[in-house]
Amino acid sequence: MNPPVDNLIIGAGPAGLTTAYCLAKAGAGVRVLEADPRYVGGISRTAHYKGFLFDIGGHRFFSKSKEVVDLWDEILPDDFIDRPRLSRIYYGGKFYAYPLRAFEALANLGLIESTLCMASFGWAKLTPIRDPKTFHQWVRNQFGERLFGIFFKTYTEKVWGMSCDEIAADWAAQRIKGLDLMSAVIDGLKRSLGVRPAGGAVAKTLIESFRYPRKGPGMMWEACAEKIKRFGGEVAMDTRVTGATWDDSTALWTVSTVRGDGSGATMTARNLVSSMPMRELAHAISPAPSSLPQADGLKYRDFLTVVLIGQSATTLPDNWVYIHDPAVTVGRVQNFRSWSPEMIPDATSSCLGLEYFCFEGDGLWSSSDADLIARASREIAVVGLMRAQDVTDACVVRQAKAYPVYDEAYRDNVAAVRDELAALYPTLHLVGRNGMHKYNNQDHAMMTGMLTALNIQAGRRKFDVWDVNEDAEYGEAGFSGAKEALASERPVPGRVT
Ligand SMILES: Cc1cc2nc3c(=O)[nH]c(=O)nc-3n(C[C@H](O)[C@H](O)[C@H](O)COP(=O)(O)OP(=O)(O)OC[C@H]3O[C@@H](n4cnc5c(N)ncnc54)[C@H](O)[C@@H]3O)c2cc1C
Repeated sequence: MNPPVDNLIIGAGPAGLTTAYCLAKAGAGVRVLEADPRYVGGISRTAHYKGFLFDIGGHRFFSKSKEVVDLWDEILPDDFIDRPRLSRIYYGGKFYAYPLRAFEALANLGLIESTLCMASFGWAKLTPIRDPKTFHQWVRNQFGERLFGIFFKTYTEKVWGMSCDEIAADWAAQRIKGLDLMSAVIDGLKRSLGVRPAGGAVAKTLIESFRYPRKGPGMMWEACAEKIKRFGGEVAMDTRVTGATWDDSTALWTVSTVRGDGSGATMTARNLVSSMPMRELAHAISPAPSSLPQADGLKYRDFLTVVLIGQSATTLPDNWVYIHDPAVTVGRVQNFRSWSPEMIPDATSSCLGLEYFCFEGDGLWSSSDADLIARASREIAVVGLMRAQDVTDACVVRQAKAYPVYDEAYRDNVAAVRDELAALYPTLHLVGRNGMHKYNNQDHAMMTGMLTALNIQAGRRKFDVWDVNEDAEYGEAGFSGAKEALASERPVPGRVT
């Protein structure tokens, strides 16, 4: 067997590549093992089809963490563009600007419905549900029952495939954080009156512009992989990790992998960093953890995009449109030209991504591409964003485990697996979205990678990656404080002591 690698990293998504980049830059040995034969970037990859480029969902580059933004600029210094954000909600045959514009929303809803919404909001404020446990209860407290029914229920149930009474309030608190009806209405009034929001913290969901690599998020992660190689690291594609065995006597991991053609390999490493789904990791590890039943309790929501290409008579200004309307099954429509004109190989074609939320193996997931394309062409015409006859080409991209599910049991299940693996294996590091079963954005995944690189350099888990909040912020002193504290300890790159 070959000599051990300092650091084996499972997954070339944002979490794995960030960890590898930081370690390789510090002079440590890294090998990244990526299951995908073609793309780096994980869910943040950019897929290619006949010169058309598209995301798995649209990926805004926005972070409150300066360290993450600095790293984006370091990896991709010349290729960011600033994009205006325009998104709308389609409901009941009408479009609503999102974030809402007060007068437009009032006009669309009509006087009676608007009055009922305000009354139901007032009632919710007078009679709040104490300690809300579910998404439904949380949103009802914040916006009232009526607005919950119009603007939250159908879309959320499309996304998660379960009732809003089964979704934990945690998810709402994280995703709609900082937004309540008053701030949405005040913001909407300002927008209606043409007043730009001045200074102060704006809820993430209301942000008006964002940065974007001119050829999609994959451009960032392809550049990152190239730089890792330049620092002396390796990125092995088409290499799926199937097993990881810990040997107490040598303090080494032996990792088994398989390629698409069925050929396998094994390799040893001092540190193992995993961004593969927690549930799968628990099954890959031996000796097997006793928390396997809790790992099996972790659930995921899957996702597919039907990309429709054509010469559309409709000019669509939005980056994306949320489809709340229950008349169609599509959940969201991405307009890739609005993300960046360089996503489209010519000046006139439209390229729309119709996003369907599903479970791996269910009817939608297992439908043939031809059936999915027919469904998407029908539904895009119902919504009025493109005529079915204008579609000239199409393709389907499936993304398994796009969303870690936050159900009632997830928190306890994650804690059981996390705590056991941490106690048994000091040189195993969990990072990223499915790696930590955290519904996060790239910045959070990256911050867990940056801290993990520091932990590996320190030779112990000095920083708790589970303390990174959803804004990718870490502790009181932040990541810079952590880095400075560590620098004063003279770390040894890639060494575990
Ligand atoms: C629809 C949608 C829209 C989004 N929009 C945004 C956005 O606007 N802005 C934003 O910042 N974030 C967005 N995100 C979130 C972002 O995609 C994730 O936070 C980010 O990709 C997580 O990075 P990761 O490295 O943790 O995981 P992933 O991106 O999932 O990468 C994990 C990698 O590990 C590989 N892997 C898995 N198992 C194995 C194995 N056994 N062996 C080897 N390799 C393996 C996978 O192939 C993958 O490449 C969005 C996500 C979705 C689903």
